[in-house]
Amino acid sequence: MLSKTDIQTYRKMLQNARTPEEAVMMEQLRAITQNIPALYLMLVIAVIALGSTFLQQAPDVLTIGVPTVFVLLGAIRLLIWHHGQKGMLHPEKVQRKLLQVELLTSLLFASLGLWVWALLPYASDQERLYLSFFTAFTGASSTICGISRPRLVGMCLFLTLSVFCILFFDPDEQFYYFATAQIAVTYLVFFLASQSYKRRLAQSVVLLNRLNAENRRASELADTNQSMALTDMLTGLPNRRKFFQDVDAAYNPKTDKRTPVVGLIDLDGFKPINDVFGHTAGDAVLIETAKRLRRVLGEDASVARLGGDEFAYILPKSVSQKDVKRIAQRIVNAMSEPVRLPNKDTSRVSASVGYSSRAFPVKSARDLMEQADFALFRAKEHKIGRAVEFSAVHAESQMREAVIHQAMKKADLDAELRLVFQPIVNSTDGEVTRCEALARWDSPELGSVPPLEFVSIAEKMGMTQQLTRVVVRKALAHLRDWPELASMSVNLSAQDIISRETSDALVAIILTEPEEVRRRLVLEVTESSLLNDMEEARHNLMKFRFLGLKIALDDFGTGYSSLRYLQDLEFDIVKIDRSFGAAIDSTARGLGLVATIQHLCRSLNIECIIEGIETRQQLEVARSAGCRFVQGYLYSAPMEAKDVRAYFAREKRFPGYRELLQDANRDVA
Ligand code: C2E
Ligand code: MG
Ligand code: MG
Repeated sequence: MLSKTDIQTYRKMLQNARTPEEAVMMEQLRAITQNIPALYLMLVIAVIALGSTFLQQAPDVLTIGVPTVFVLLGAIRLLIWHHGQKGMLHPEKVQRKLLQVELLTSLLFASLGLWVWALLPYASDQERLYLSFFTAFTGASSTICGISRPRLVGMCLFLTLSVFCILFFDPDEQFYYFATAQIAVTYLVFFLASQSYKRRLAQSVVLLNRLNAENRRASELADTNQSMALTDMLTGLPNRRKFFQDVDAAYNPKTDKRTPVVGLIDLDGFKPINDVFGHTAGDAVLIETAKRLRRVLGEDASVARLGGDEFAYILPKSVSQKDVKRIAQRIVNAMSEPVRLPNKDTSRVSASVGYSSRAFPVKSARDLMEQADFALFRAKEHKIGRAVEFSAVHAESQMREAVIHQAMKKADLDAELRLVFQPIVNSTDGEVTRCEALARWDSPELGSVPPLEFVSIAEKMGMTQQLTRVVVRKALAHLRDWPELASMSVNLSAQDIISRETSDALVAIILTEPEEVRRRLVLEVTESSLLNDMEEARHNLMKFRFLGLKIALDDFGTGYSSLRYLQDLEFDIVKIDRSFGAAIDSTARGLGLVATIQHLCRSLNIECIIEGIETRQQLEVARSAGCRFVQGYLYSAPMEAKDVRAYFAREKRFPGYRELLQDANRDVA
């Protein structure tokens, strides 16, 4: 069996060899080298034994001198051989060395022949027999050591046979004919064995060569796999995994007090491009984004694609604070340039950038990411195409978020969460047939926490399922008690609608109610929540619709307001965002937009509700735009469950639109 060193030597040897022949030569030399000590030992014993046999009758020079010279020369040769054998030889040297071996072996055999010839005159008949035996046997056995090289074997055997014939063959003795024939046949067998040994050697060299090539390919493949695992295939940028490794490597407070700057980039308006122009166009935008980011950030910064339309960068510690700001702004500017799509259309996206701040010390590379993430969240909250640095206000909000998160984790939501209800009023007659359920959290630790705050924290922390389950359960409990004409809408958060697990859990809760209760439940989803995974959202919404529920598109007008969603997802209700309600009386454009949405809903047979109506004037303009169902402080802020029942029972009623206007005229008069 081959040892580990053998395999390594083989590998190195084959790396040096340019052709299989060269590799075979190298292996021959290696085999000979391994056998050389045994060969010399055998020769030394044979030479000493022969010299000693003739001690009495032959001169000292032949019995002591010659063996001494052989032994000494053998020892020197052995030393030189081993010294020269260190390290791997190049093919040319190997060839020279093999020639040397052949030459020296021929010389050795010739000298041995001469020595035997010199001893012959002193030999008795018996000793003559010993000499012939010495010649034939020593020669043959020596060749075994060089079996890997048939040329050497052939040469040695030929020389030995020649010496044997010249010195011992006696044509008058029949015995010698047989002996010579037997020796010749034995030698022939030796020679053939040597040739087949070489052939096998050549075959194993070829096999080993192939094995080596396959190993090389396998390790190249492993290298490619490794780099693929860290690269985003579309843009060629490092991927999320690699980016996290890079952030870890860049943050090294032990050796450097300064921190790198981590930036996160999110494209605004990317998803509609994907939806409207298709994935090829989306891919083109991402590739162009990667190009622009590389150009803006230069060689020293690292850029990565974290996934979807999210990119990230790390600025080295050497970049000045001024440049940190400048670079973030340059990214925003670069991304606001139009992108040419493969179908020759041009499209516009913009980028929101959030980046960490050196003014706030961090404890880990993860904190840098969190700062950038927080700043990005704020950048996206306000307006599109903005760069925001993590600031003191953010640090404070971050701390508050952490506190709320901790409190939420501990909270008994069943006990601490309650629902209030804001009526959705038919402005024609002031009647209420539906209310929106809005969650209120009275935390024993923190007091009352606004829903916008705890809902977004629950979303960030992946806790919406618990929250929504409690809300839906409580909503159904109220709905069960309400008169048959009353319906209720409940808000789902962005994650609920794209999570199969959450939607299944909600389906299980809703299914416990009879159909006549389910029919009166409306689920409100926001447009932005659909964008994350349109197909999953559609699938989950179908399940609810199948149970008899209605689906409302909440905050319409704040996202991309794509008509495609309205049509594809077959919404039953659209709620125009309260920012429109608030602006309806101040801008002609606001009025135009609301009127258009109303018109659209009517033609698609979708119910339309306008939110955020606070004044009579807003109501008047909303009415003129065609709005009938209104939700807003003008009628009522969210109220307690007990107060809402009177409206359903027709014990109380809001003033109708005309009454309101009359009241207003009376006020003016
Ligand atoms: P939303 O679903 O758009 O709910 C309407 C919000 O607008 C409510 O705020 C309501 O009080 C407020 N509003 C109603 N009329 C007016 C008005 O005339 N003027 C102004 N300025 N505001 C008005 P609220 O209750 O603070 O809820 C805020 C948001 O929190 C909701 O917006 C909804 O997105 C979320 N939310 C509330 N409850 C839940 C819930 O149970 N689950 C989920 N996932 N989100 C909820
Ligand atoms: Mg809502
Ligand atoms: Mg809304």
